Amino acid sequence: MKVLVPVKRVVDYNVKVRVKADETDVDLANVKMSMNPFDEIAVEEAVRLKEKGIVTEVVAVTCGLAACQDTLRSAMAMGADRGILIESSIELQPLAVAKLLKSICEMEAPSMVICGKQAIDDDSNQTGQMLAALLDWPQATFASKVELAGDKIIVTREIDGGLETLSMALPAVVTTDLRLNEPRYATLPNIMKAKKKPLDTIAAESLGVDTAPRLKTIKVSEPPRRAGGVKVADVADLLNKLRNEAKVI
Ligand code: AMP
Repeated sequence: MKVLVPVKRVVDYNVKVRVKADETDVDLANVKMSMNPFDEIAVEEAVRLKEKGIVTEVVAVTCGLAACQDTLRSAMAMGADRGILIESSIELQPLAVAKLLKSICEMEAPSMVICGKQAIDDDSNQTGQMLAALLDWPQATFASKVELAGDKIIVTREIDGGLETLSMALPAVVTTDLRLNEPRYATLPNIMKAKKKPLDTIAAESLGVDTAPRLKTIKVSEPPRRAGGVKVADVADLLNKLRNEAKVI
């Protein structure tokens, strides 16, 4: 069974994001980029399924600039067998990515796509759902547990107030939630081995997909600065301020 894992190159989650002076976008100059954390969880899950003997091949796919090859190498260092870069120099929004991934699914015929629930740069939480719709495959989002049972996949999802368990026929799309697993660190020998794993590059234009952006960013701005706090004399003073100034009780 083949699993496809879409991985996105995003600003590292430890970086304090800065906004460009003209407020058109986030400033990416000299900023550390890494694999989207939810995609690390997706790669980990696919590799664990391979280690259990359920999956035979894990293919990592990324859409974007040539620099995204780094992200594929990181996925391969974690255990993915090969990588595919769908190269594009234009801004790719979730619908465009979903269409490109659909083309790759038609070429590669995976039994499952495991992607992150959201990319931490655009916070869209759309690509997996759109891909499932375009392919007309069942989907289970926000997975906290994934099990294979014959030709079915059983996915436990985190929902408000509890857990929901779904059974779906394959092929299917799964998106990962934070508690699905704890991704491994790539070891140095595996980072070295990953450099020799196959990495194919496909030009996005060659897939005949309309990737034109549908959304226009009007403005990107910093959140308002937090105002300083005040010291209260005692509990009575605190209650008085909450009641009469903040009006929250
Ligand atoms: P989003 O809908 O942008 O929040 O992204 C959800 C998931 O879709 C991510 O966690 C990735 O698994 C996948 N994805 C989004 N953009 C890309 C991209 N450019 N290349 C590969 N995978 C992507």
